[in-house]
Amino acid sequence: MAGEPQTDCLFCKIVTGDVPATIVRETDTTVAFRDINPQAPTHVLVIPRAHYPDAAALAAAAPELAADVLREAGEVAADEKLEAHGYRVVFNTGSGAGQTVFHAHAHVLGGRGLQWPPG
Ligand code: 5GP
Ligand code: ZN
Repeated sequence: MAGEPQTDCLFCKIVTGDVPATIVRETDTTVAFRDINPQAPTHVLVIPRAHYPDAAALAAAAPELAADVLREAGEVAADEKLEAHGYRVVFNTGSGAGQTVFHAHAHVLGGRGLQWPPG
């Protein structure tokens, strides 16, 4: 059923604490933690506690939860003092775009110059 925990999902295991992570923020509906392989001085992932395979599925099934993820991305940026120089919020969607974990997540990237268009 949409939103239910998946036993084989890495990020569901981070939500339950079965897999450790460096958590920087938590709300009733979201968890934010540092990426294990950071691509910028600040690289934080924001996930909904509930499991949806990607951002579009999340937004279609639970738009308020999608908004929670986006709001938390902004709070992470503020906490990490990224706003003055700008930052990027990325949802890789599909393996062809680099998605490797199929539990919706926002990458919050900042603390260095960011090229446009992204690679
Ligand atoms: P994707 O490639 O799906 O857009 O993003 C998945 C992200 O999860 C990658 O940036 C990867 O480095 C990160 N990641 C993979 N495994 C772990 C883990 O066990 N812990 C943490 N904190 N991040 C992980
Ligand atoms: Zn999951």
